[in-house]
Amino acid sequence: MIVAIDGPAASGKGTIAKKLAEYFNLSYLDTGVLYRAVALQMLTKGMNEKDSQSAEKVARQVSIASIDHTGIRTRAVSDLASKIAAIPGVRQELLTRQRRFAQNPDPGKDGAVLDGRDIGTVVCPHADFKIFIIADLEIRAKRRWKELLQSDPTVIYCEVLEEMRSRDERDTNRKDAPLAVTLGALVIDTSNKSIDVSFNEAKNWILSRRF
Ligand code: C5P
Repeated sequence: MIVAIDGPAASGKGTIAKKLAEYFNLSYLDTGVLYRAVALQMLTKGMNEKDSQSAEKVARQVSIASIDHTGIRTRAVSDLASKIAAIPGVRQELLTRQRRFAQNPDPGKDGAVLDGRDIGTVVCPHADFKIFIIADLEIRAKRRWKELLQSDPTVIYCEVLEEMRSRDERDTNRKDAPLAVTLGALVIDTSNKSIDVSFNEAKNWILSRRF
């Protein structure tokens, strides 16, 4: 079975996806990591989003199995990832890898769960289950700010809030594969819910429709 999970940054979709993967014995892919890997390589080489041909070239060389997760969670990487994610050639390169992953789960697994922005709409439009996770912008920014504080005590909340607002706007308004709720998706608002409550909602919804 394939489970598609979409939603904005810090909505809780990654944590819920990982828990669903464990519960239903599925391979898990955080698709944001692919865009982040492209952005990190570009930053390292001094490139920016205006260099779309180079971005496509970097994306062509990304392999899910060999992505190094070191340094991909910084604010600079988040920012550039959402800028290069608007380049159609970059999305096309990464799309084939994500689809291959969804169609070829690891041996012994019963399917795959992918999380991102366009999984239910573009990557896996025929997914068995589609879930859209949302939460208020301020609550998401506070979650991300607290995360960032662990490695940098000088991070300012208002800056994180503004960065998240810009990223939401770019992800929602781009022409190619924007963040959007797809028909038939279960929408879960995690603003005032614990991860366990949100996970149980998703899990029980899948169980009730599974057979
Ligand atoms: O999920 P995460 O915040 O790590 O993703 C980083 C960026 O990658 C997002 O802001 C978005 O622009 C892009 N992305 C995307 N489509 C996906 C996953 C991520 O456009 N399926």
